[in-house]
Amino acid sequence: MAKTLKAWYGGTFDPIHYGHIKPVEAIAQQIGLTKVVIMPNNVPPHRPQPEASSSQRKAMIEVAIQGNPLFELDDRELQRAKPSFTVDTVEALRKEQGGAQPLGFIIGQDSLLSFQSWHRYADILTCCHLLVTRRPGYSLTMPDTQQQRWLEQHLAADIAELHTLPAGKIFLADTPLLPVSATAIRQRLHQGQPCDDLLPAPVMDYIIRHGLYRR
Ligand code: ATP
Repeated sequence: MAKTLKAWYGGTFDPIHYGHIKPVEAIAQQIGLTKVVIMPNNVPPHRPQPEASSSQRKAMIEVAIQGNPLFELDDRELQRAKPSFTVDTVEALRKEQGGAQPLGFIIGQDSLLSFQSWHRYADILTCCHLLVTRRPGYSLTMPDTQQQRWLEQHLAADIAELHTLPAGKIFLADTPLLPVSATAIRQRLHQGQPCDDLLPAPVMDYIIRHGLYRR
């Protein structure tokens, strides 16, 4: 039986918001994904640390996706003592899922633009497809001609390729533009401004109940 594409979505999710959820729902519908696994990162010590703890970020994802059958949570990176590179994660997923299983890793357009600076980026693409959501304010073309050529060489010819090939393709999805970031949400909350239209109500309730992002 043909294997269907499975997809993962990494990020800090400090906090999870509609800019994460809605473009991913759209890409899932466009490609025909029935499951997307959200995988929150453990942030390396030399990077700015999330304001919410790992367990709070995890809890906010749980309340955000409750009752939404598209999403699942995988907290393996939060369980690890050390942060892992995306390449380590996708190599582990490849081992678990077997060589023939089509795998997708969802990223926003901003992440695609800097993708070639990621640790062993070429190896990431040998393990999975990159499924890219649009993000307002970020160019649809790569920063230079070498990177643009690289993108064009890897672009998926059609959606069927994502389901038949195990890895190696980049798919630029036509997803809704949501001008929201976790940074902007944290800033608004620090200033006591409302964010109700930027994230799901159960996440906002959690933030209020736990006194997060107050300052
Ligand atoms: P921060 O502002 O703290 O950097 P963020 O809102 O960018 O956070 P992350 O958790 O760092 O969110 O991002 C996880 C993934 O979600 C990344 O691939 C990023 O490109 C994508 N993403 C975040 N916000 C949006 C958005 N508004 N539209 C499309 N993709 C988004």
